[in-house]
Amino acid sequence: MKMINITFPDGSVRQFEAGITGQDIAKSLSNSLAREVLSINVNDELWDLTRPLNADATIKLNKWDDPDGKHAFWHSSAHLMAEAIESIYPGTKFGIGPAIENGFYYDVDPGDDVVISDADLPRIEKKMKELVSQKNQYTREEVSKDNAMKHFGDKGDHYKTELIGELEDGTISFYHQGNFTDLCRGPHLADTSPIKAIKLLSIAGAYWRGDETRKQLTRIYGVTFPKQKMLEEHLELLEQAKLRDHRKLGKELELFTFSQRVGPGLPLWLPKGAQLRERLENFLKKVQREHGYEPVITPHIGQKELWVTSGHYEKYGKDSFQPILTPHEGEEFLLKPMNCPLHCEIYRSKPRSYRDLPVRFAEFGTVYRYEQSGELHGLTRVRGFTQDDAHIFCRPDQLEEEFLKVIDIILYIFKTLDFQDFVTQVSLRDPADKEKYIGSDENWDKAEKAILEAVEAKGMDTVVEVGEAAFYGPKLDFIVKDALGRQWQLGTIQVDYNLPERFELEYIGSDNQKHQPVMIHRAPFGSMERFIALLIEHTAGKFPLWLTPDQAVILPISEKYHDYAEKVSKFLNNCDIRTLIDERSEKIGKKIRDNELKRIPYLLIVGEKEQESDTVSVRRQGEGHKGVMSLEEFAKFLQSEVRNQLEATEPDV
Ligand SMILES: [Zn+2]
Ligand SMILES: [Zn+2]
Repeated sequence: MKMINITFPDGSVRQFEAGITGQDIAKSLSNSLAREVLSINVNDELWDLTRPLNADATIKLNKWDDPDGKHAFWHSSAHLMAEAIESIYPGTKFGIGPAIENGFYYDVDPGDDVVISDADLPRIEKKMKELVSQKNQYTREEVSKDNAMKHFGDKGDHYKTELIGELEDGTISFYHQGNFTDLCRGPHLADTSPIKAIKLLSIAGAYWRGDETRKQLTRIYGVTFPKQKMLEEHLELLEQAKLRDHRKLGKELELFTFSQRVGPGLPLWLPKGAQLRERLENFLKKVQREHGYEPVITPHIGQKELWVTSGHYEKYGKDSFQPILTPHEGEEFLLKPMNCPLHCEIYRSKPRSYRDLPVRFAEFGTVYRYEQSGELHGLTRVRGFTQDDAHIFCRPDQLEEEFLKVIDIILYIFKTLDFQDFVTQVSLRDPADKEKYIGSDENWDKAEKAILEAVEAKGMDTVVEVGEAAFYGPKLDFIVKDALGRQWQLGTIQVDYNLPERFELEYIGSDNQKHQPVMIHRAPFGSMERFIALLIEHTAGKFPLWLTPDQAVILPISEKYHDYAEKVSKFLNNCDIRTLIDERSEKIGKKIRDNELKRIPYLLIVGEKEQESDTVSVRRQGEGHKGVMSLEEFAKFLQSEVRNQLEATEPDV
């Protein structure tokens, strides 16, 4: 009997008979592990638990909490749903059915005369549960290209044959469970029995292969769990997320809108939203000024030549907005997808000496990137957005210090906005594949060391990903958790050796020789659009007092007090407090209820008593009565709350 060495994640090695499966390895360790394990990584490749291991290998057994475990679970659930659909709607043709971040979907074509709608989902769900109880095994079969073609050709499934046509013979596998067969690379669960809770969520149209000229298939989304309770918690979270959806709240709070006539993915900021965004920008501008950044402004378009120099044209030119032509022949411009090349040109506008560095150029620069219309989503996936961008040009020996300073700014901003829960990811180059990257070893080592030491010095919770760096330099990403525990990729700090080289940037060193500066790209929010979307969903529209569009609403008890309400409003406006007056002839109780719903932090009720004594009766949204205050008292009270929010976190500059 041949024995093989299996290395576990903790480095321990055990011997097993060749041909052993992941499932058996789990069983040999403990029965409870065997029940929980969902898939196995073999030498960093994801495998089925039932696939035999015939050689020495390093393995990792994946449970629900491992992304690779969930992936196998949800991918298997997609096959299960397809089996249910095929049995209810015979003749259905299948596109693709992957696992996604929170569940899975399958794109199906039930035929021209059949419509699958939301009302049909419970029926499909019921069928899936019935199939689960059969405990069918997922089995893998390697097939030749000819046989694969024949199988799906006979079935008339031209989507699958199209996919098979693009695969290489010898790499094709089928998976079977129950009466269902799918073209699939795997991996899958051993059988359907771990799928204990099922919910089909929604239906959408999706063009085959994302191509608007091809047929629209029916995309069915679902989610499954190993425990009913987990499903209930997930559905509750989805419910919460729906209430906080920034598209819904953005409309209710009159922050932004979209117009079909202007075009998809191009947000229009309404006055309240524009003011909120301006306050955020002013806050950032102030912090940046204090950190030695200088503002610059650049145009929205640039000559094609600029983007050829930067490399963007070669890389993204075909899949982006196409050139803008002028009446003058041969002139071509592109909408700017990034601000960096323009900042490089600003750097080049005069000679720089080592004593001038670092220089830090900041710009709220609006950029345009083409996204397919089906991919657009509120403010989080748009075609035009404004980056809170800045570029730092420094000497290599200044890199670490500059990097630390950028981290400081980002931490300060997150703290002020109450995002305490985040993780960072450091992306390094793959040392085994150095040809993939530009720049000298020495510079890479320096930059990577600078990032790792900076992260360590700040005591940040960090994941290090080797091989994830951009070809031009390593980077640090900030991933923020919102109030519902969802992760949002926000700010990024990136070291770049490429653009300084392409744009031939230089400075004169203390040795009187020409040297190349290093460039740092950084955007704490990523984009104003994405950040405001996150802020809306994180706070459920209850913005911090300093940021919120209207800080106080004045509620006159009756029309008799409108003049006094005006007077209060004027007084507060003079104190830089943003107010509204609710002059509707509604009962005061209704006015209070309505305005509480608008999430305005302070409600000021004014009637006979208040008018006579020059006071307001103060309510805090969600908290109730706070007492009667003179106008000066209330103004001071509100201003000190604003100051506390901003100053409690004042940076050490
Ligand atoms: Zn599959
Ligand atoms: Zn940049």
